Amino acid sequence: MDVVRLPKVLLHEHLDGGLRTETILELAAEQEYRGLPTEHPDELADWFYQGESGSLEGYLEAFRHTVGVMQTAEAVERVAYESVVDLAADGVVYAEIRFAPTLCTTRDLSPRRVIEAALAGLRRGERETGLETGLILDALRNQTDSLEVARLVVEMEAQGVVGFDLSGPERGFPADDHLPACRYIREASMALTIHAGEADGPDSIWRALQRCGAHRIGHGIRIVDDCLVEDGDIISLGRLASYVRDHQIPLEVCVTSNLHTGEYPSPADHPVGALHRAGFAITLSTDNRLMSRTSLSDELALVAEHHEFTTRDLQQVAERSMMAAFCSLPTKERLLTEVIRPGYERMGLSPDPLS
Ligand SMILES: [Zn+2]
Repeated sequence: MDVVRLPKVLLHEHLDGGLRTETILELAAEQEYRGLPTEHPDELADWFYQGESGSLEGYLEAFRHTVGVMQTAEAVERVAYESVVDLAADGVVYAEIRFAPTLCTTRDLSPRRVIEAALAGLRRGERETGLETGLILDALRNQTDSLEVARLVVEMEAQGVVGFDLSGPERGFPADDHLPACRYIREASMALTIHAGEADGPDSIWRALQRCGAHRIGHGIRIVDDCLVEDGDIISLGRLASYVRDHQIPLEVCVTSNLHTGEYPSPADHPVGALHRAGFAITLSTDNRLMSRTSLSDELALVAEHHEFTTRDLQQVAERSMMAAFCSLPTKERLLTEVIRPGYERMGLSPDPLS
């Protein structure tokens, strides 16, 4: 199976987690950023590769340097543009990219200017590749500016911002500390996704879903802790797990990222296969292509190899991801009927995943 040629939908990718190593070095030189651990491209790539970090906190440390070189409008625009080019080369046809604009304001940029620069980069990439994108703005769980970020989401919807996310360290920073921001987003009828159930258990998912009202859950894999698993299969579900499955709450699953933050020792131990077989609304994403040295094609190949996802399963994931996207229904239907299903047909497969 040539997974690069399969039309793919990416819902969970951090702008500051997907930079090219050469770009980091060039931007560091331009902005006289002196904090990089090395100026040798290969060594820098190895440093960013967080395969051995073993913790979410160690993983997050690497972002200090990527956002460190994203402090001018030109830099942010370039990083956004290059991410679209790189994703298109990987066969991604629709992508939602997220970042925390307030992290790019240590010099003189306003958050609004940062967002405009990111959107300009995405648009340039879209014009060049045909890949369609949406921008999600993040507030960090361990910061206190979530309501300001939520206001920016609503203010900049017309320019291409599609939703709001809470990211950053999960343990000790409950999502419902940010209820005013989440409520602001929902009352503005905008889209809300929250990182939850990545490092912390079902209670964190419950807070994100039932207290904050998230429409999608970033990761969410620890919902498996509310399930009874025997021989690798889920045989019964707790009440929260039932809710997540029965309401088809989309889970933005990033397998390699979870392995690198130490959640599971090997790909086969990851619950993605069990959750998929039990009917949870699994979508597959990259999280941070730089730190995890991955691509969406790599993620698809990984679940095919270790969890027996067939091409039909991957088409179901792509279609489900498209329907869970924060774009309009006409956009979803157009991409489904004109790009995704024909793409699978060209691979010699039925467009109907059930046939
Ligand atoms: Zn993430």
